[in-house]
Amino acid sequence: MTYHNYSLKQLQQIDAQHHLHPFTDHKDLRGAGSRMIVRADGPFIYDAEGHQILDGMAGLWCVNIGYGRNELAEVAYEQMKELPYYNSFFRCAPPAAGLLAQKIAQLAPKHLNQVFFGSSGSESNDTALRLVRHYWALEGKPEKNRIISRQNAYHGSTIAGTSLGGMEPMHGQLHGAVPNIVHVMMPYAYELALPGESDHEFGLRAAKAVEDAILEAGPDKIAAFIGEPVMGAGGVKIPPASYWPEVQRICRKYDVLLMLDEVITGYGRTGNWFAAETFGIEPDTITTAKALTSGYLPLSALLVSDRIAKTLEEKGGEFHHGYTYSGHPVCCAVGLKNLEIIEKEGLVERVREDTGPYFAQMLRERAAGHPLVGEVRSVGLMGAIEIVKDRETRERFLPSGSAAVIVRDHAIANGLMMRATGDTMILSPPLMWTRETIDLAGERIAKALDLAEAQLRKPS
Ligand code: PMP
Repeated sequence: MTYHNYSLKQLQQIDAQHHLHPFTDHKDLRGAGSRMIVRADGPFIYDAEGHQILDGMAGLWCVNIGYGRNELAEVAYEQMKELPYYNSFFRCAPPAAGLLAQKIAQLAPKHLNQVFFGSSGSESNDTALRLVRHYWALEGKPEKNRIISRQNAYHGSTIAGTSLGGMEPMHGQLHGAVPNIVHVMMPYAYELALPGESDHEFGLRAAKAVEDAILEAGPDKIAAFIGEPVMGAGGVKIPPASYWPEVQRICRKYDVLLMLDEVITGYGRTGNWFAAETFGIEPDTITTAKALTSGYLPLSALLVSDRIAKTLEEKGGEFHHGYTYSGHPVCCAVGLKNLEIIEKEGLVERVREDTGPYFAQMLRERAAGHPLVGEVRSVGLMGAIEIVKDRETRERFLPSGSAAVIVRDHAIANGLMMRATGDTMILSPPLMWTRETIDLAGERIAKALDLAEAQLRKPS
């Protein structure tokens, strides 16, 4: 690689002079300099100083088969030589796009058989928003165009993704959101359940907020409800079991479409190919990206139900939407190989039956009892640790979010990449992690918590 000709200092200077980073305070970054991640293998990433770090986030929730899988490189190389690019406009298509769409349809819940490709989760959520509005217009109900989402949801960073999402700091810089999107409460029992309210009751109350929003606008105005099955970037917030079936019942009652954003959960993370199965629901659209190629190339896929597809086919008329890279042959070839690997190695079943429960046990044993921890939770291979000052009262350290950053920095310094979001530590490891890898992560989590506690409770 060309960077070998540069020293670490030089690389950091070049980065600081020319590279604007996503979701970053550049004043802060320029002071500290970037950690250069230069190579990776299996479950580990390596920085320019040679530190080996266990990647507890699978990159950004995506490298599910782990790093260094030559099969993906080889398939990309072959496809690039044969056909590096062609589009799917003007009644053309590269074969890889159709073959990947077929594979996704085989793996997906049976009523989802059509796929629209993009390059990112954000793009696919743009597609989903445009598509559900187009659907209702074709059905003769153009005024049924409002979307219900949740506070603190993450649906991407384009204008539409940010508008669909419910992150306040992002909305603060939006200066003009896509209209007709409303946000209701999130199903986050740890902070929002009332004293004495059971998880089950709380889940029903959070779902009722969706019904209230439908009734407030009128069902003839609401196109769809969108949600992440488990809120990921918002802090791995796992809803009570009562939530999703009740949301689905409400959506059906008022003929509101159900859009599931599985950009994180799609392709195995919760122990099923799709979290729709984990939570027992049948959405009208499923947005996927990330793990579709294990992050090796950018690719997203919106799965579309037979109900919507039928209307598109029967009513006709152009859907004025699409991207240059929709169905990119190299990305699709890599996606197909990646799914074949996940299937062949039985990674989804392994998460469901073995590593998922083992991961939950590790969090209970290594973190749940720690004086800094208010709660641990997980589903499949995604988990969260709530950092608190006082376990009983659930009081947090101030300023908000500061304690989790301290835990994160100790984790990274001790060889585990974890992320802090607000006061929550989150983990989303590759699905190829074994029990041994989970044990190693557990040791490093326990160490990071101890070191952070010593620092946070140091007498001043
Ligand atoms: N939806 C969800 C649930 C996500 O977690 C993300 C990314 N973290 C996105 C959408 C956006 O995906 P991308 O960054 O590929 O645009």
